[in-house]
Amino acid sequence: MTSLGSVFTDQEVNNWLKARLAINITSTGLHKFIDREVKNVQEDILKSISLTATCTNCCTANLLKCPTPGICKIQRQKGSPSICNYPHDTAMHQPKPCPNSICDDIRDEIIKKHRYKRPSWKNTSAEQWTSNHWELAKCFMPRDGYAGVSNIQGTDFNGVISVMMNCSHFDGTMSFIIASQQPSGPCLLTKAREISNSIRHSPTCKVQATDLNEIFKTMLAILEDSRVLAHDTDAQDAASKLKQLQNESTDISLTDVYQLLKESQEASEQACQVSAEAKVEIKTLMDKIRELENKFDNSQTCVKNVNPEMEDTIYAQKVLELRRRLIKHYTDNTQYVSVMQNHDISLMEIYATPAIHRVDTKKDGKRKKSEPVFTYKDHFRKGKMSCCARWS
Ligand SMILES: [Zn+2]
Ligand SMILES: [Zn+2]
Repeated sequence: MTSLGSVFTDQEVNNWLKARLAINITSTGLHKFIDREVKNVQEDILKSISLTATCTNCCTANLLKCPTPGICKIQRQKGSPSICNYPHDTAMHQPKPCPNSICDDIRDEIIKKHRYKRPSWKNTSAEQWTSNHWELAKCFMPRDGYAGVSNIQGTDFNGVISVMMNCSHFDGTMSFIIASQQPSGPCLLTKAREISNSIRHSPTCKVQATDLNEIFKTMLAILEDSRVLAHDTDAQDAASKLKQLQNESTDISLTDVYQLLKESQEASEQACQVSAEAKVEIKTLMDKIRELENKFDNSQTCVKNVNPEMEDTIYAQKVLELRRRLIKHYTDNTQYVSVMQNHDISLMEIYATPAIHRVDTKKDGKRKKSEPVFTYKDHFRKGKMSCCARWS
């Protein structure tokens, strides 16, 4: 275990690493909330068009007129009609009405829900609009770079926060007005997106202490927003992690530092192209990364070969972590059942305790129902004895 504040000798580079980690933590803390709300958006859209069937015949290109500004790549030809090189480039990709009268209506509903009425059609596959809610979410992300994304876990912070900013459904989920420009300045989400962009494209890979404080303040204000997120356990876990990171009261595993450094290595390579002045600083940073990678490898060898006690401790921690993740997985995924299309309810709402009784078999072969059995354990034990009773 190591402290993130001691990875680099330069405090401002440490601040930059902390800022990157703070963004990652915030993004993860928002996942459950955003994913659920996008499912609600999908449900709203399907309800509003009174969907009674599904359609997988239409691709996105079929649903866009030609030319669609910002999408179509039109090639003008002297003396002959212009041709569209994208997306209406083949006979299968020509504009046409949905044969099932479904997809055109969904397209129109997506436009209605987009704050600026400019969905990112290049990202999305219309064939999956009724089956994969994340294909709808991608309509609200930046125009390029998200076509290959299939779920929120694979979506970066910029994409995730853009869904909140561009989909008007989220107006009702935050306590503030979502807008990039307003008299009081940009909203928290706009600020968070600007922070993420500036950290990702930082030419120096450094962050000043005052800026880092502002980053923590912004991310915490989002995660602790009183309307919904203050009551969301994942958002509150993330807020708690952010506070620990801010106060240096938490240790970060070497694995996390290693992963962060890998990301930083890529970012610093990009930074080389941006700023020639930063080259010396970045070289130092790269050397440090290599040094830490070696330390990481050595620490793994050390754990395996030199210190078996530490290996036992790590094994025990991994068992606990697996248990925690299994409980979370079951809590998140298996306590709901689908009772009809797009309608899940909690198992506890429909669960009825079964009437199970112990059956004693007498010497004459007669069977008599005795006390009820309520717990799983009591199925196999009677008092301290293991039990071969049969049940009715
Ligand atoms: Zn076109
Ligand atoms: Zn269709």
